[in-house]
Amino acid sequence: MRTNTNSRLAIRTFAIVALLLPTLPLLANDGEDGYRLLELDGYKVKWGEPQLGVGASVSYAFADETLRFDDARNCRDLEPIRALSGQDIPKEVLIRETASAFAVWERAAGLSFHRVSNARDADIVIGAQGKPRGRAFANVSYASDPEVGAGVRAIEQAQVCLNPEHQWKVGFDGNKDVYDIRYTLIHEIGHAIGLDHPGPSGQVMGFRYTESFAELQPGDLYGVRRLYGRGTDDVVPGDGFDTLLAEKATDAFHANDFIGSSVISTTGEDKIGSIRNLIIDPNGTIVAVVIGGFLGIGEKEIALPWDRVEMAWDADKDETVIRVDADEDAS
Ligand SMILES: [Zn+2]
Repeated sequence: MRTNTNSRLAIRTFAIVALLLPTLPLLANDGEDGYRLLELDGYKVKWGEPQLGVGASVSYAFADETLRFDDARNCRDLEPIRALSGQDIPKEVLIRETASAFAVWERAAGLSFHRVSNARDADIVIGAQGKPRGRAFANVSYASDPEVGAGVRAIEQAQVCLNPEHQWKVGFDGNKDVYDIRYTLIHEIGHAIGLDHPGPSGQVMGFRYTESFAELQPGDLYGVRRLYGRGTDDVVPGDGFDTLLAEKATDAFHANDFIGSSVISTTGEDKIGSIRNLIIDPNGTIVAVVIGGFLGIGEKEIALPWDRVEMAWDADKDETVIRVDADEDAS
């Protein structure tokens, strides 16, 4: 945390909040709830049954030969993944990172993934781009089954392709010019299972590469659970409780979910304050959070720029927590 620890600024920003909040259509669409479902030709798309909230089992494989997907918008030409391995990332590391990326989504929702050896049998095929461009892309094709309704269609096949001419790395090092392969794959797999970009940042599905977090963020979780329901890991026994959880999971992502969230230090699990309010700019973008009870400042409230906070999901408590670096410039 670098700035904005004086109370005058907090008071000023408070006034802005009071002015803007009532007039903003903050929760007008999916994107502003922290997620956006992919829509193709007006249909939401998902694996398994074409019904929101129903889980699915999905296979994946690495391209083992040159493959061409004539109808694909992205990833039309896929090359075997060994084309990527030359850049200090051995194939077994790539396999491990890919499995970890799938596991992130598997833990989050009613999804299970299994790797198969033959790409022609796989639902999701991962490979190197035959015609390198950008960094990474995903492509999703849905089944043209005429009998499904409700605006949802079943995904038939998806491809994820990485540019083999770019450098890739394993793990974050602060250099945002070289992408971490696992983070990139989590993002692209997100597309391959039916999620779109909710906006530039704040979620793994944001289109801007970040190293601010390595885990799914609340919007990502809401999005994938809306498509596939909650994962079995989360099932809590008890009368009606599962239903309650399922309903909660499909809720919109409200500002109310933030306000009152605990703020914890990145250096420990100590609660050092809570979110009192959000500061929204005229475009409806969150620019800062107002934190109260912060360290030694008593009842004073401070505004912390949005890009200085790290949102995380406390799965045990099923709530959002905000992490800040409390050691830096805390006075
Ligand atoms: Zn993307």
